[in-house]
Amino acid sequence: MGYWKEIVEGGWSLVEGMRVTAKRLVRPVVTVQYPRQTIDMTLAYRGHIELKKFAESGSHRCVACGTCERTCPSHVIKVQGVKAHARSDKVATHYWIDFTRCSLCGLCVEACPTETLKFSREYQLDGETRWDGVIDLIQRLEENRS
Ligand code: SF4
Ligand code: SF4
Repeated sequence: MGYWKEIVEGGWSLVEGMRVTAKRLVRPVVTVQYPRQTIDMTLAYRGHIELKKFAESGSHRCVACGTCERTCPSHVIKVQGVKAHARSDKVATHYWIDFTRCSLCGLCVEACPTETLKFSREYQLDGETRWDGVIDLIQRLEENRS
């Protein structure tokens, strides 16, 4: 009796599995053939932070004030800047973030007085050492990867 019961249950499970497969066959495809195909992330997605590019200057507005650096609870930001002359504003020349330790809390974005920081839509990050997680945001901006 147990033998026949197992056969009936196995057969029924097969029918159920085929029913689910057939149902999914006619639904629209929601996956992509990564890495040949990629997707645009939603606005809510948080990649690492990056510098915004502004139309009026064609560059960022970071004045290297260090507010983001001091605000970051993970201490992963390093920013340096120079003044063209004594009375001019400072302009950031170097901006690095160690993304391996960033918690994506967003405090740096909130605190920036010039609103020049935003979250990127970057999701294709990989590396062989932890140093590959250190990102040069000025270089990214110059290479138009922002
Ligand atoms: S998101 Fe948070 S942890 Fe990441 S760099 Fe900004 S302040 Fe630091
Ligand atoms: S808070 Fe804004 S302006 Fe100040 S150093 Fe950070 S990114 Fe630059």
